[in-house]
Amino acid sequence: MAFSRITGQKQIKIRLAAEAKRRGSGAYMLSGPEGTGKRLLAEEFSKALMCSDSGPDGACGVCSNCKYFDSFTTPDVTRVYEPSDTKMVKVDFIKDNVVAESYLKPQFARTKTFIIDFDYLGVESQNALLKSLEEPRKDVVFILTSSNTDTVLDTVMSRVTEIKLDPYTDDELEAIVKANFPDLDEAKIRSAVYNSGRIPGKAISLAKEDSGVSIRHEINSIMIAMPESSYIDILEDFCEVLTGFKDDAKIIASSILLFLDDCGRLINYPDCRKLNNETEREAIENFVAVNKHITTLKLGRCTEAVNKFLRALDVNANFDATASAMLLRIHEELKK
Ligand SMILES: [Zn+2]
Repeated sequence: MAFSRITGQKQIKIRLAAEAKRRGSGAYMLSGPEGTGKRLLAEEFSKALMCSDSGPDGACGVCSNCKYFDSFTTPDVTRVYEPSDTKMVKVDFIKDNVVAESYLKPQFARTKTFIIDFDYLGVESQNALLKSLEEPRKDVVFILTSSNTDTVLDTVMSRVTEIKLDPYTDDELEAIVKANFPDLDEAKIRSAVYNSGRIPGKAISLAKEDSGVSIRHEINSIMIAMPESSYIDILEDFCEVLTGFKDDAKIIASSILLFLDDCGRLINYPDCRKLNNETEREAIENFVAVNKHITTLKLGRCTEAVNKFLRALDVNANFDATASAMLLRIHEELKK
Protein backbone atom coordinates (compact mmCIF):
# COMPACT_ATOMS: atom_id res chain seq x y z
CA MET A 1 0.00 0.00 0.00
CA ALA A 2 1.55 3.25 -1.05
CA PHE A 3 -0.53 5.76 -2.99
CA SER A 4 -3.59 3.60 -2.35
CA ARG A 5 -3.37 4.42 1.37
CA ILE A 6 -4.35 7.97 0.41
CA THR A 7 -8.06 8.47 -0.21
CA GLY A 8 -9.15 10.39 -3.33
CA GLN A 9 -7.00 12.15 -6.00
CA LYS A 10 -7.10 9.04 -8.19
CA GLN A 11 -5.80 10.62 -11.43
CA ILE A 12 -3.03 12.50 -9.64
CA LYS A 13 -1.87 9.35 -7.85
CA ILE A 14 -1.69 7.43 -11.14
CA ARG A 15 0.26 10.27 -12.69
CA LEU A 16 2.72 10.65 -9.81
CA ALA A 17 3.34 6.90 -9.63
CA ALA A 18 4.10 6.90 -13.36
CA GLU A 19 6.43 9.90 -13.03
CA ALA A 20 8.24 8.14 -10.19
CA LYS A 21 8.68 4.97 -12.22
CA ARG A 22 9.96 6.99 -15.16
CA ARG A 23 12.34 8.74 -12.73
CA GLY A 24 11.84 12.04 -14.46
CA SER A 25 13.77 14.89 -12.91
CA GLY A 26 12.43 18.38 -12.51
CA ALA A 27 10.08 20.37 -10.34
CA TYR A 28 6.44 19.80 -9.51
CA MET A 29 4.04 22.11 -7.72
CA LEU A 30 1.10 20.46 -5.97
CA SER A 31 -1.51 23.15 -5.47
CA GLY A 32 -4.85 23.23 -3.67
CA PRO A 33 -6.44 24.81 -0.60
CA GLU A 34 -5.10 24.16 2.89
CA GLY A 35 -6.17 20.82 4.33
CA THR A 36 -6.50 19.01 1.01
CA GLY A 37 -3.68 16.52 1.56
CA LYS A 38 -0.91 18.06 -0.55
CA ARG A 39 1.76 17.13 1.97
CA LEU A 40 0.59 13.53 2.13
CA LEU A 41 0.83 13.25 -1.67
CA ALA A 42 4.21 15.02 -1.71
CA GLU A 43 5.62 12.61 0.89
CA GLU A 44 4.31 9.55 -0.95
CA PHE A 45 5.65 10.86 -4.27
CA SER A 46 9.03 11.46 -2.68
CA LYS A 47 9.08 7.93 -1.28
CA ALA A 48 8.16 6.48 -4.69
CA LEU A 49 11.01 8.43 -6.29
CA MET A 50 13.49 7.09 -3.72
CA CYS A 51 12.26 3.50 -3.86
CA SER A 52 14.42 1.00 -5.76
CA ASP A 53 11.38 -0.94 -6.97
CA SER A 54 8.43 1.44 -7.36
CA GLY A 55 5.35 0.23 -9.21
CA PRO A 56 1.92 1.47 -10.33
CA ASP A 57 0.99 2.16 -6.70
CA GLY A 58 4.26 3.98 -5.92
CA ALA A 59 6.86 2.88 -3.37
CA CYS A 60 7.30 -0.84 -2.61
CA GLY A 61 7.54 -0.21 1.14
CA VAL A 62 10.07 -2.99 1.73
CA CYS A 63 13.33 -2.01 0.06
CA SER A 64 16.09 -0.35 2.09
CA ASN A 65 15.36 3.06 0.62
CA CYS A 66 11.71 2.78 1.68
CA LYS A 67 12.82 1.76 5.18
CA TYR A 68 15.20 4.74 5.39
CA PHE A 69 12.42 6.99 4.20
CA ASP A 70 9.97 5.72 6.82
CA SER A 71 12.45 6.19 9.63
CA PHE A 72 13.27 9.76 8.49
CA THR A 73 16.94 8.82 8.39
CA THR A 74 17.66 9.19 4.69
CA PRO A 75 19.98 12.02 3.71
CA ASP A 76 18.38 12.05 0.26
CA VAL A 77 15.14 13.75 1.30
CA THR A 78 15.05 17.33 2.50
CA ARG A 79 11.84 18.69 3.94
CA VAL A 80 11.19 22.40 4.25
CA TYR A 81 8.01 22.83 6.24
CA GLU A 82 6.86 25.53 8.65
CA PRO A 83 9.76 26.82 10.73
CA SER A 84 9.41 26.46 14.49
CA ASP A 85 10.98 29.77 15.46
CA THR A 86 9.99 32.23 12.74
CA LYS A 87 6.97 32.86 10.56
CA MET A 88 8.77 32.30 7.25
CA VAL A 89 11.74 30.13 6.33
CA LYS A 90 14.98 32.13 6.34
CA VAL A 91 16.68 32.63 2.98
CA ASP A 92 20.01 31.38 4.39
CA PHE A 93 18.34 28.11 5.32
CA ILE A 94 17.20 27.71 1.70
CA LYS A 95 20.66 28.54 0.36
CA ASP A 96 22.47 26.12 2.69
CA ASN A 97 20.03 23.22 2.84
CA VAL A 98 18.37 23.29 -0.55
CA VAL A 99 20.34 25.22 -3.17
CA ALA A 100 23.80 23.95 -2.13
CA GLU A 101 22.53 20.41 -1.51
CA SER A 102 20.72 20.22 -4.82
CA TYR A 103 24.02 20.28 -6.72
CA LEU A 104 25.26 17.15 -4.93
CA LYS A 105 24.37 13.66 -6.05
CA PRO A 106 22.14 11.45 -3.87
CA GLN A 107 23.97 9.29 -1.32
CA PHE A 108 21.86 6.11 -1.32
CA ALA A 109 18.77 6.45 -3.47
CA ARG A 110 18.72 6.95 -7.21
CA THR A 111 16.80 10.18 -6.80
CA LYS A 112 17.19 12.98 -4.30
CA THR A 113 14.06 14.91 -3.41
CA PHE A 114 13.31 18.26 -1.83
CA ILE A 115 9.81 18.71 -0.43
CA ILE A 116 9.16 22.41 0.06
CA ASP A 117 6.02 24.05 1.42
CA PHE A 118 5.90 27.35 -0.47
CA ASP A 119 3.37 28.78 2.01
CA TYR A 120 6.39 29.53 4.20
CA LEU A 121 8.69 30.95 1.51
CA GLY A 122 8.99 34.71 0.99
CA VAL A 123 10.08 36.41 -2.23
CA GLU A 124 13.77 36.32 -1.37
CA SER A 125 13.75 32.58 -0.66
CA GLN A 126 11.77 31.89 -3.82
CA ASN A 127 14.25 33.92 -5.86
CA ALA A 128 17.14 32.00 -4.31
CA LEU A 129 15.63 28.80 -5.69
CA LEU A 130 15.09 29.92 -9.29
CA LYS A 131 18.32 28.63 -10.74
CA SER A 132 18.04 25.26 -8.99
CA LEU A 133 14.48 24.84 -10.22
CA GLU A 134 15.42 25.69 -13.76
CA GLU A 135 18.26 23.26 -14.19
CA PRO A 136 18.09 20.52 -11.60
CA ARG A 137 20.51 17.61 -11.77
CA LYS A 138 18.96 14.65 -13.54
CA ASP A 139 18.76 12.76 -10.25
CA VAL A 140 17.06 15.59 -8.33
CA VAL A 141 13.33 16.26 -8.02
CA PHE A 142 11.71 19.24 -6.35
CA ILE A 143 8.25 18.61 -4.95
CA LEU A 144 6.71 21.95 -4.04
CA THR A 145 3.34 22.56 -2.45
CA SER A 146 1.26 25.71 -2.24
CA SER A 147 -2.18 26.46 -0.85
CA ASN A 148 -2.24 29.77 -2.72
CA THR A 149 -0.22 30.05 -5.91
CA ASP A 150 -0.94 33.82 -6.01
CA THR A 151 1.88 34.11 -3.47
CA VAL A 152 4.26 32.16 -5.70
CA LEU A 153 6.45 34.16 -8.11
CA ASP A 154 5.55 33.84 -11.80
CA THR A 155 9.18 33.02 -12.47
CA VAL A 156 8.79 30.00 -10.17
CA MET A 157 5.50 28.91 -11.70
CA SER A 158 6.98 29.02 -15.18
CA ARG A 159 9.69 26.58 -14.09
CA VAL A 160 7.45 23.97 -12.47
CA THR A 161 4.82 21.48 -13.59
CA GLU A 162 1.70 22.47 -11.67
CA ILE A 163 -0.57 19.67 -10.49
CA LYS A 164 -3.86 21.00 -9.14
CA LEU A 165 -5.58 18.75 -6.61
CA ASP A 166 -9.09 17.61 -7.56
CA PRO A 167 -12.13 18.28 -5.37
CA TYR A 168 -13.02 15.40 -3.03
CA THR A 169 -16.34 13.56 -3.35
CA ASP A 170 -18.65 13.04 -0.35
CA ASP A 171 -17.77 9.32 -0.30
CA GLU A 172 -14.06 10.08 -0.19
CA LEU A 173 -14.52 12.64 2.56
CA GLU A 174 -16.62 10.20 4.59
CA ALA A 175 -13.94 7.53 4.20
CA ILE A 176 -11.25 9.97 5.38
CA VAL A 177 -13.22 11.01 8.48
CA LYS A 178 -14.10 7.39 9.26
CA ALA A 179 -10.46 6.31 9.05
CA ASN A 180 -9.51 9.00 11.57
CA PHE A 181 -12.48 8.55 13.91
CA PRO A 182 -13.67 4.93 13.59
CA ASP A 183 -16.04 5.25 16.56
CA LEU A 184 -17.79 8.43 15.52
CA ASP A 185 -21.46 7.85 14.64
CA GLU A 186 -22.73 8.15 11.07
CA ALA A 187 -24.75 11.33 11.61
CA LYS A 188 -21.74 13.17 13.00
CA ILE A 189 -19.54 11.93 10.14
CA ARG A 190 -22.07 13.19 7.58
CA SER A 191 -22.40 16.54 9.32
CA ALA A 192 -18.59 16.99 9.39
CA VAL A 193 -18.47 16.19 5.65
CA TYR A 194 -21.42 18.48 4.85
CA ASN A 195 -19.82 21.45 6.61
CA SER A 196 -16.30 20.86 5.37
CA GLY A 197 -16.42 22.81 2.11
CA ARG A 198 -15.04 19.60 0.54
CA ILE A 199 -11.74 20.04 2.37
CA PRO A 200 -10.63 16.88 4.21
CA GLY A 201 -8.58 18.81 6.82
CA LYS A 202 -11.66 20.82 7.72
CA ALA A 203 -13.86 17.70 7.90
CA ILE A 204 -11.32 16.10 10.24
CA SER A 205 -11.20 19.11 12.55
CA LEU A 206 -15.01 19.26 12.67
CA ALA A 207 -15.14 15.55 13.50
CA LYS A 208 -12.50 16.12 16.15
CA GLU A 209 -14.69 18.71 17.86
CA ASP A 210 -17.53 16.19 17.89
CA SER A 211 -15.31 13.47 19.27
CA GLY A 212 -14.30 16.01 21.97
CA VAL A 213 -17.89 15.84 23.14
CA SER A 214 -17.66 12.06 23.33
CA ILE A 215 -14.39 12.20 25.31
CA ARG A 216 -16.22 14.45 27.76
CA HIS A 217 -19.04 11.96 28.06
CA GLU A 218 -16.63 9.06 28.69
CA ILE A 219 -14.76 11.06 31.31
CA ASN A 220 -18.00 12.00 33.08
CA SER A 221 -18.93 8.31 33.25
CA ILE A 222 -15.56 7.48 34.79
CA MET A 223 -15.84 10.28 37.34
CA ILE A 224 -19.36 9.24 38.29
CA ALA A 225 -18.24 5.64 38.82
CA MET A 226 -15.13 6.69 40.77
CA PRO A 227 -16.43 6.59 44.40
CA GLU A 228 -17.58 2.96 44.05
CA SER A 229 -14.59 1.76 42.00
CA SER A 230 -11.70 -0.46 42.99
CA TYR A 231 -8.00 -0.06 42.21
CA ILE A 232 -8.37 -2.77 39.60
CA ASP A 233 -11.19 -0.84 37.85
CA ILE A 234 -8.95 2.18 37.74
CA LEU A 235 -5.73 0.54 36.66
CA GLU A 236 -7.34 -1.65 34.05
CA ASP A 237 -10.55 -0.12 32.71
CA PHE A 238 -10.24 3.60 33.36
CA CYS A 239 -6.60 3.81 32.32
CA GLU A 240 -7.43 2.02 29.10
CA VAL A 241 -10.12 4.58 28.26
CA LEU A 242 -7.69 7.44 28.87
CA THR A 243 -4.97 5.78 26.81
CA GLY A 244 -7.46 5.59 23.94
CA PHE A 245 -7.68 9.39 24.04
CA LYS A 246 -3.95 9.85 24.53
CA ASP A 247 -3.62 12.32 21.65
CA ASP A 248 -6.19 14.54 23.29
CA ALA A 249 -4.66 14.81 26.75
CA LYS A 250 -5.76 18.45 27.05
CA ILE A 251 -9.38 17.50 26.34
CA ILE A 252 -9.13 14.72 28.96
CA ALA A 253 -7.83 17.19 31.52
CA SER A 254 -10.36 19.89 30.70
CA SER A 255 -13.19 17.35 30.81
CA ILE A 256 -12.22 16.28 34.33
CA LEU A 257 -11.84 19.90 35.41
CA LEU A 258 -15.28 20.79 34.01
CA PHE A 259 -16.82 17.85 35.86
CA LEU A 260 -15.15 18.85 39.14
CA ASP A 261 -16.25 22.43 38.61
CA ASP A 262 -19.87 21.29 38.09
CA CYS A 263 -19.74 19.28 41.34
CA GLY A 264 -18.39 22.32 43.20
CA ARG A 265 -21.16 24.50 41.82
CA LEU A 266 -23.86 22.03 42.81
CA ILE A 267 -22.42 21.64 46.33
CA ASN A 268 -22.34 25.40 46.89
CA TYR A 269 -25.47 26.38 44.92
CA PRO A 270 -27.74 23.35 44.42
CA ASP A 271 -30.05 25.43 42.21
CA CYS A 272 -27.25 26.78 40.06
CA ARG A 273 -28.60 27.71 36.67
CA LYS A 274 -26.05 26.47 34.21
CA LEU A 275 -23.51 23.65 34.42
CA ASN A 276 -20.59 23.05 32.08
CA ASN A 277 -22.16 19.65 31.39
CA GLU A 278 -25.72 20.88 31.25
CA THR A 279 -26.82 17.94 29.09
CA GLU A 280 -25.67 15.55 31.84
CA ARG A 281 -27.09 17.59 34.68
CA GLU A 282 -29.29 14.88 36.14
CA ALA A 283 -26.44 12.38 36.44
CA ILE A 284 -24.12 14.91 38.08
CA GLU A 285 -26.84 16.14 40.49
CA ASN A 286 -27.40 12.55 41.48
CA PHE A 287 -23.64 12.01 41.92
CA VAL A 288 -23.40 14.97 44.31
CA ALA A 289 -26.54 13.89 46.19
CA VAL A 290 -25.38 10.32 46.87
CA ASN A 291 -21.78 11.27 47.65
CA LYS A 292 -22.20 13.69 50.52
CA HIS A 293 -18.68 12.90 51.70
CA ILE A 294 -17.25 14.80 48.73
CA THR A 295 -16.39 18.32 49.86
CA THR A 296 -15.09 21.31 47.91
CA LEU A 297 -11.76 20.75 49.66
CA LYS A 298 -11.57 17.24 48.18
CA LEU A 299 -12.57 18.60 44.75
CA GLY A 300 -9.76 21.14 45.05
CA ARG A 301 -7.23 18.35 45.64
CA CYS A 302 -8.56 16.51 42.57
CA THR A 303 -8.07 19.69 40.52
CA GLU A 304 -4.49 19.80 41.78
CA ALA A 305 -3.98 16.19 40.57
CA VAL A 306 -5.23 17.14 37.08
CA ASN A 307 -2.88 20.13 36.92
CA LYS A 308 -0.01 17.90 37.98
CA PHE A 309 -0.94 15.51 35.13
CA LEU A 310 -0.79 18.38 32.62
CA ARG A 311 2.55 19.63 33.94
CA ALA A 312 4.02 16.12 33.69
CA LEU A 313 2.89 15.76 30.07
CA ASP A 314 4.44 19.12 29.26
CA VAL A 315 7.81 17.63 30.08
CA ASN A 316 7.02 14.47 28.07
CA ALA A 317 6.41 12.13 30.99
CA ASN A 318 5.05 8.68 30.13
CA PHE A 319 1.32 9.04 29.45
CA ASP A 320 0.11 5.78 31.01
CA ALA A 321 2.06 6.26 34.24
CA THR A 322 0.99 9.88 34.58
CA ALA A 323 -2.65 9.16 33.81
CA SER A 324 -2.88 6.30 36.29
CA ALA A 325 -1.21 8.40 39.00
CA MET A 326 -3.82 11.12 38.42
CA LEU A 327 -6.75 8.68 38.50
CA LEU A 328 -5.50 7.03 41.72
CA ARG A 329 -5.11 10.42 43.37
CA ILE A 330 -8.65 11.41 42.35
CA HIS A 331 -9.95 8.07 43.59
CA GLU A 332 -8.26 8.62 46.94
CA GLU A 333 -10.27 11.83 47.35
CA LEU A 334 -13.62 10.66 45.99
CA LYS A 335 -13.86 7.06 47.26
CA LYS A 336 -16.54 6.16 49.78
ZN1 LIG B 1 10.90 0.56 -1.98
